Amino acid sequence: MVDYKVGLYFTEEYYQYNFGETHPLRPLRLELTFNLFEELGLLNHSLLEIIKPRHCTQEELARVHSTDYINVVKKLSDSPNEDPLSGYGYGLGPGDNPIFKGMYETSTLICGASLMAAEKVFLDDTFKATFNPAGGLHHAHRNRASGFCIFNDIGVAIAHLKYLKKDIRIAYIDIDSHHGDGVQFLFYDDPNVLTVSYHEDGKHLFPGTGSVHERGEGNGVGFSINFPLMPYTSDKIFLDLFRKTTPIILETYKPDILLTQLGVDMNYNDPLTQMGLSVSICKDIAQTFKTSAREFCQDRWLAFGGGGYLMGVVPRAWSLYLAKMLEVELENKLPEKWYENFKDKVQYEKAPFYLWEKADDIEKEYLKNPDLAKKMLDYKKYLIELCEITYLPILSKK
Ligand SMILES: [Zn+2]
Repeated sequence: MVDYKVGLYFTEEYYQYNFGETHPLRPLRLELTFNLFEELGLLNHSLLEIIKPRHCTQEELARVHSTDYINVVKKLSDSPNEDPLSGYGYGLGPGDNPIFKGMYETSTLICGASLMAAEKVFLDDTFKATFNPAGGLHHAHRNRASGFCIFNDIGVAIAHLKYLKKDIRIAYIDIDSHHGDGVQFLFYDDPNVLTVSYHEDGKHLFPGTGSVHERGEGNGVGFSINFPLMPYTSDKIFLDLFRKTTPIILETYKPDILLTQLGVDMNYNDPLTQMGLSVSICKDIAQTFKTSAREFCQDRWLAFGGGGYLMGVVPRAWSLYLAKMLEVELENKLPEKWYENFKDKVQYEKAPFYLWEKADDIEKEYLKNPDLAKKMLDYKKYLIELCEITYLPILSKK
């Protein structure tokens, strides 16, 4: 039984973070997620509190973004057609980050939610875990938008925690299939912000960074940790690596608070990546985060959303995370009403049948391809050793 509250930061205004009909980051993923939380009964849980976010202020935003960039986003948000070319040098325009009316307001709302969540968990002892499914915009840089991310809500939350307590120790763990470059580089020289990213190797996937050699700079050397993964990494390989690295990293670093980006685009069917994870693994990852937060982070766990481009995967995966926060055991079936709603709203994807499933086919593929299986196992071993021999010793030094 959990003895504290869990805050869910949510508003229908999130759906206005919308790059257009053909863009993969569809607001529908959040709508279906909220709907599944509801149909599974999670929203009625006595320990859950739904909190409506506020916008972050320009001052709070300016802790991580340049004034020039903030002003450009603001101007284009008010009048998208007036001088669209002015967004080009800032990553805004046709492609990944199209300009849309109201993008400043909706982005500051997402950042405000993450900032409020951070403050809640850090200052209010009754709240130990929060979830902002619209957050996790980990690619946004100080001076530009990138990879569907306009402002970096995680960066804004971290900067706020540092504002609340100057010498706070923050651990950030990112399991999105894309490297958490924005967060890493915003705090690259800061030993009080440890960033850890598990992602598909940048040799194969956007944004291309996140090699094992990116370790931080200046005082921050050793406090950026990267685990680039081979395409088709399976549940078994990932989980073994994750369980042998995340808890020991946290135990060694001794943070005051744990931040996690819960992108679910490592799913084996995700259209944007080439990884091999199932929905089922989210239960195991959530358990490790929860136990680690309890043992090494004073129980403080801030969760943000992230990538994931299948309408059938995102709602189920994030429901498993929220259920774990609340310590609710769910049955492996989908509520009828949600299933019907899904079929009604999603035309181009097969409706999922269960709440979670394993990705056994990937493991079977390995059996057919022993060379690949050996390569995977050897590489996993290399990463675990790299963690033990190279990453951990620096973390224990202050
Ligand atoms: Zn991603």
